[in-house]
Amino acid sequence: MAQTEANPQSGTTVMAIETSPYPMNMMCTHCGTQVVTHTVPTPGVLVWSLSVPLCYFWFCCCCLIPWFVYECHDIEHRCPQCRTHLATYRRCCR
Ligand SMILES: [Zn+2]
Repeated sequence: MAQTEANPQSGTTVMAIETSPYPMNMMCTHCGTQVVTHTVPTPGVLVWSLSVPLCYFWFCCCCLIPWFVYECHDIEHRCPQCRTHLATYRRCCR
């Protein structure tokens, strides 16, 4: 589901795209084709906010656990043809 929001300061219209952690049908803004996105997990705010307290309060090796848990990562949606970054699904701080 896409929503458009007008930005009165710049006079442009910004497309707010509701993302999911799964591959999505999207129009690539670079090559202009309709694609099913390629998803790439990337460490985001949730990984850092879990690993820092784990490192501080427990053994340092525990701070690495969030880095290997897929469900803690943000998901980047990329075009499978030109690899352009199209959107990001954030686990927290959306
Ligand atoms: Zn593309």
